[in-house]
Amino acid sequence: MDLLTSLKMHNQPFGGAWVEQTRLDIGADLMGVLAVDEHSHDDFLYAIKTFLPTAKACVVLGMEYDSEIMNLIKRPDKYGAGPKTGDLLSPHVNQLNRVVDQANYDLARLLKKQGFRSIALPSRGLPFRPGQMKASLSYTHVAEAAGMGTIGTHSLLITPEYGTRVRLTCLLTEAPLQTTNRIDPIDDCTHCLDCVKICPAQAISAPGTSERYKVDGFRCKFYRDRVDNCGLCQKVCSYATGHSENQGGPLVASSNFVELVSAAHHQQQFGEEE
Ligand code: SF4
Ligand code: SF4
Repeated sequence: MDLLTSLKMHNQPFGGAWVEQTRLDIGADLMGVLAVDEHSHDDFLYAIKTFLPTAKACVVLGMEYDSEIMNLIKRPDKYGAGPKTGDLLSPHVNQLNRVVDQANYDLARLLKKQGFRSIALPSRGLPFRPGQMKASLSYTHVAEAAGMGTIGTHSLLITPEYGTRVRLTCLLTEAPLQTTNRIDPIDDCTHCLDCVKICPAQAISAPGTSERYKVDGFRCKFYRDRVDNCGLCQKVCSYATGHSENQGGPLVASSNFVELVSAAHHQQQFGEEE
């Protein structure tokens, strides 16, 4: 379905129905929107000014990691004769980057055909800000502001749908899209600190009172380069947040977690029952 047909059908330009239909059309697993204006956070405005100063919205696309690949993530001392973590994880991440970039490119084309300047940013390799070891735009922070999940103690996005098993990218557009708000009030991080305990590089620390996370990116990268990828914090969080049924089983939201989210939805819609 093209954009104009979609707009006519839903009679609500760029609302939630448009987002959902477009997500399906471009084949993304998750899609969220953050509308931006001059009052938006400086971190978002920096990227807008740098890449598309006339942008009115930032779209985040997410693609799910294959749970079978996640199941194979192990500590190096557990490799034995089996595959190393990076043997399958690294090619899978490359594949996910290609797929999410393609969906992003398709969305940019779709919006451009309707007359809205748009730019699909790459899922990997966005330039740093001059003089800083900080990416021009944090996709994770945009995704959280777009109501797609919560940033956990490991600094990754935790989504209600897939936990940490999501690969993100962003698009900037002049189209006046509406922000997608989260309807449940749940903090997806359970603050169990399992990610802190499992990190073999001690790159994740328990956050202080005024911090949300404390991660040493250099330690993490050094370790991953040395042992050929890692992902242990992502995997353990899948268990901690109920996105794994049991060890070695499929990584899917547990029934407990689904019930928790449903209850929160219900409470949001109907309020506390007497
Ligand atoms: S493992 Fe626990 S503390 Fe770490 S991000 Fe996940 S839920 Fe939060
Ligand atoms: S990927 Fe591995 S080394 Fe990096 S923070 Fe997570 S657990 Fe630590």
